[in-house]
Amino acid sequence: HVQVSGAVKRYGDCAALDGVDFEVEPGQFLVLLGPSGSGKSTLVRSLAGIERLDEGQVRLSGQLASAGSRHLPPERRNLAMVFQDYALWPHLTVLGNVGYALRRRRLDKSSARERVHAALERVGLGRHAERYPHELSGGEQQRVALARAVVAQPQLLLFDEPLSNLDADLRERLRVEIATLTRESAATAVYITHDQSEAFALADTIGVLDKGKLIQLAGPEEVYRRPATPFVARFTGVAG
Ligand code: ATP
Ligand code: MG
Repeated sequence: HVQVSGAVKRYGDCAALDGVDFEVEPGQFLVLLGPSGSGKSTLVRSLAGIERLDEGQVRLSGQLASAGSRHLPPERRNLAMVFQDYALWPHLTVLGNVGYALRRRRLDKSSARERVHAALERVGLGRHAERYPHELSGGEQQRVALARAVVAQPQLLLFDEPLSNLDADLRERLRVEIATLTRESAATAVYITHDQSEAFALADTIGVLDKGKLIQLAGPEEVYRRPATPFVARFTGVAG
């Protein structure tokens, strides 16, 4: 369960987030859409605890994660994030990269290893466990990042344009895998994309951001039929 209220983040004179309020119910998939610079990454990074808010609150599963001087670090937020550029450790094998996500869990070696292998099997990478990231294609690297994200079974999965660097065919396949993995793990998801068809395919709810403000938050059907503003209609590509 994600609850954000009155979120403000400033960089100098620019308000990257200008008073954002929303909730994501447990297990729901929220997709954030918006033009470049609208604050999507800033919002997701604030959920992750990578950024500190200037004002407002973030509650995760009822726990106050950000508020005033209170700031839980990312590793204590029970979440995982998948980035556009995969962000794997170059000096660790596939096994090492995925296993890294379990470093804070008190698991004995063999059960940790079992969980890592199970996660790799789920993304079809069981055979590549001993390879290094540079020995993998972009799509395979992103599958490693997905396995790393789900292996510790976090309650919240954050995605910042995870498919933007991949070709159309792979984008479609990985999009389906992300939907399946997220559903299976029963995690709540917040997912940034520039791709309207990706947004409509994945979302339980779509949030449209513009200039640091959440302009509309509604189901895909509602956004499609009743865009809140001409901007939303134009941006979601469903009118004109
Ligand atoms: P894109 O679609 O291009 O990734 P975005 O919606 O993710 O854009 P953000 O990265 O959240 O946008 O940036 C929102 C605003 O905050 C932009 O005007 C950006 O220049 C500014 N900004 C973001 N990070 C910083 C930073 N570390 N220092 C200064 N300004 C920043
Ligand atoms: Mg961004």
